[in-house]
Amino acid sequence: MKITMLGTGNALTTEYYNTCFIISDNDKNFLVDGGGGNGILRQFKQSGFFFNDIHHIFVTHTHTDHLLGIIWVIRKFCNVMKKDTDYAYIYAHDEVIRILRYFSENLLLPRQQKLIDTQIHFVTVSDGEEKNIIGHKVRFFDIHSTKTKQFGFCMDIGNNEKLTCCGDEPYNELNRKYAENSKWLLHEAFCLDSHADIFRPYEKHHSTVKDACLTAQRLNIPNLLLYHTEDMTCPDRKELYLTEGRKFYTGNLFIPDDLETIEL
Ligand SMILES: [Zn+2]
Repeated sequence: MKITMLGTGNALTTEYYNTCFIISDNDKNFLVDGGGGNGILRQFKQSGFFFNDIHHIFVTHTHTDHLLGIIWVIRKFCNVMKKDTDYAYIYAHDEVIRILRYFSENLLLPRQQKLIDTQIHFVTVSDGEEKNIIGHKVRFFDIHSTKTKQFGFCMDIGNNEKLTCCGDEPYNELNRKYAENSKWLLHEAFCLDSHADIFRPYEKHHSTVKDACLTAQRLNIPNLLLYHTEDMTCPDRKELYLTEGRKFYTGNLFIPDDLETIEL
């Protein structure tokens, strides 16, 4: 299995695309979030993925930097789908699905709208619900956001191991059963702890590299991947974040650049 980061930035970055990624296994792909716009088309092209290779998508929440790219993915699906052959499933909680339906009904052409609920399926998931996606069990969970309802997920990756994605807010202790002992933890880090006075991550319900690393250390996580960051430190982000993170975390720390692929 592998993960390809299409984007690693926060909502307002220009040096990185907004955080979204593809988890792949045996040529089957699972897209998580769409970033904020049609930049998703470029990220697909540059990473070598094709839209007709994607049949399963999860959208974490309704913030623009995660959801609006999905509208472009749906548009692209309408172009590349062969009649009655390819299907796409878009999983999300009820509020995300409501907005995706609204956009689809109001922005798509009539011939594109015909594909909704026939070839492109919106699947509402609830807290704790499990689905089989690209041959793996995926359990969706409420991250207990204080801003906007948001779901993360815990994916069975084989050998009794799991990957947990906490979305774009700090890990909440209520999700310990999902995150603890995960082989992989995908977690946001808005900025370096040493830059907290510049970026004020706590006002935005985000955390620093130090915070995320302390969490992963406490939860017994062997592999920590950080995303959803600022871009002021670009192109030195990887080196700076690794230097700070390693002081607080002894596992394998990953600070991927956009379009980087990592074996899981
Ligand atoms: Zn975000």
